[in-house]
Formats: sequence, C-alpha cells, structure tokens
Amino acid sequence: MTEEVSALTAGPYVEARDVEFAYPRGPRVLAGLSLGVERGRLACLLGPNGSGKTTLLRILIGLLSPSKGDVRLAGIRLADYPRGALARRIAYVPQETLAAVGFTALETVLMGRSPHTGALGFAAARDWYAAREALRLTDAEPFAERGLEELSGGERQRVIIARALAQEPDVMLLDEPTSFLDIRHQHAIYGLLRRLVKERELTVVCVSHDLNLAAAYADRLVLVSRGRVAAAGEPDEVIRSEVLSPVYETPVEVRRDDATGRPYLLPRPPG
Ligand code: ADP
Repeated sequence: MTEEVSALTAGPYVEARDVEFAYPRGPRVLAGLSLGVERGRLACLLGPNGSGKTTLLRILIGLLSPSKGDVRLAGIRLADYPRGALARRIAYVPQETLAAVGFTALETVLMGRSPHTGALGFAAARDWYAAREALRLTDAEPFAERGLEELSGGERQRVIIARALAQEPDVMLLDEPTSFLDIRHQHAIYGLLRRLVKERELTVVCVSHDLNLAAAYADRLVLVSRGRVAAAGEPDEVIRSEVLSPVYETPVEVRRDDATGRPYLLPRPPG
C-alpha cells in the first residue's frame, strides 16, 4: 500500500460528512448527518421508524446521492470509484428482498460472486467454494438446492446474508438483518458478523430495531433521529434512558448485564 493510500485510510473507513437528502418532491430526510465507522468495527444504526436509517444505508452504498455533503469509503469519495470497484468492496443486505423466482439458494448465493467472475460471468471452482462456505456460515446449507420461494422468511434471509458474504466484501451494510430470525439465528448472525469483524477486519454497518441485540454485539451505536445523529458512541454512551426516551418518545429503563458489562433495556410496558 502506498503512503498516500495508507494516509487516506487512517481515518474512518465508512464516512458520511454533513449529508443532506430529500426524495423527489418530499421533505428533507437527512439534515446534515455525519458519521464515521473505523475499519474492522461493527456499528449499529438505531432510531425510530422514519428517522432516515434506510436512506442513509442507500447513500452509504452509492445507490442514492446526497444533495449536499460527502460520502467516502477508505477516504475516497464514492463518486470517484469505478462502479465495479465499489461492488467488489461493499455488500448490501436490504430490508426486504424480492426473491428471484426460479433460483435455488445456492444459485442465489453464487450471484454474490458476480463482481469477481469477470466479463463472461462463468463461476470458477473458487466461486462455488465461496458460495458453499457462505451457506455453511449462515447455517443455510441444508436448503442449498431448494428454490428461494420454498423457504421461510428467516431461511431466505440467511440465504441473502450468505449471498453478501460470498461477495467477500470489505464492508457489509445490513438493513435489519435479523428481523425474521428466531433467537438462535439472531445470535448466530450477529455472532458471525462479530467474528468476521475481528478475524477479517470486515467493517459492518447494520440497522437494528432490537436495541438489546445491538447493545450486546456492536462496538459502536449511532442513534438517528429526524435525519440527524442524536447520539453516537459505545453502547454505554447511547443505551441510556435520558438519551433514548426523548428520541423514541417513550420511557425506557436501562440495566447492566453483569456477565458481559453491556447495557440492556427492560422489556417493561411504559407507565
Ligand atoms: P427508517 O429506515 O429510519 O425507518 P427511511 O430512511 O426508510 O427511515 O425513511 C425516512 C423518510 O423518508 C420517511 O419519512 C419515509 O416515508 C421517506 N421515504 C423513504 N423512502 C422513500 C421513497 N422511496 N420516496 C419518498 N419518500 C421515502
């Protein structure tokens, strides 16, 4: 790596600076939002419905362009990457995926290899291996040969996460990846993300509505409210009743898990 490039990558790996965005004819959704996630970290985006989290993820992968501000990966503006280069580095797991009918789980995961398979798109042994390995990591191997439309929501979600893993990206952006998953698979997916962050220096930005799961696994939490960052920091700095209650407009009670030292919310009805 040249000195110039290493200097560029010394800052946050995924970065949004003062980003503003509105959908056509709509009100402003992001209003001067800034965030930075270091390489090899797992960051969770929290915040109420409609606060702009999905829009922010779409901006971070270059699917939407901000009207103002700057989005960078490894210190380089997204607009300055050749399209193919970004596809090799960033994998995106959207909230809902329209399953391509007629493809098996294995074929779907193999599609994640397309940024690597060259112009003709022929899968080589290495691509098949990466696809199989990704299915194994998400516990989706048992239904590798089944059609995606024959799978449950949770099974399909694991296949879509496997597709992102098969891409072997530097950065994974996931929009509520565990929303259809049972508790075992929720922990399995977050545990897997943690492992990849630690062992392969993967950088993960993940929208989560489950504050307790996010607090248990993330290095960094970013609380989004009305298109801005209301709070950011380690779980201890964000999972606090005085931070969360005003943003979610509901009282919350926070405790600490003595075994892990991490904060969690009590599942107690307000009032
Ligand atoms: P979150 O992920 O935090 O729930 P979103 O980013 O999905 O929030 O949405 C933020 C705001 O943008 C909401 O008010 C939503 O209605 C609006 N919005 C989202 N997608 C579109 C779209 N494609 N066109 C117009 N408005 C949209």
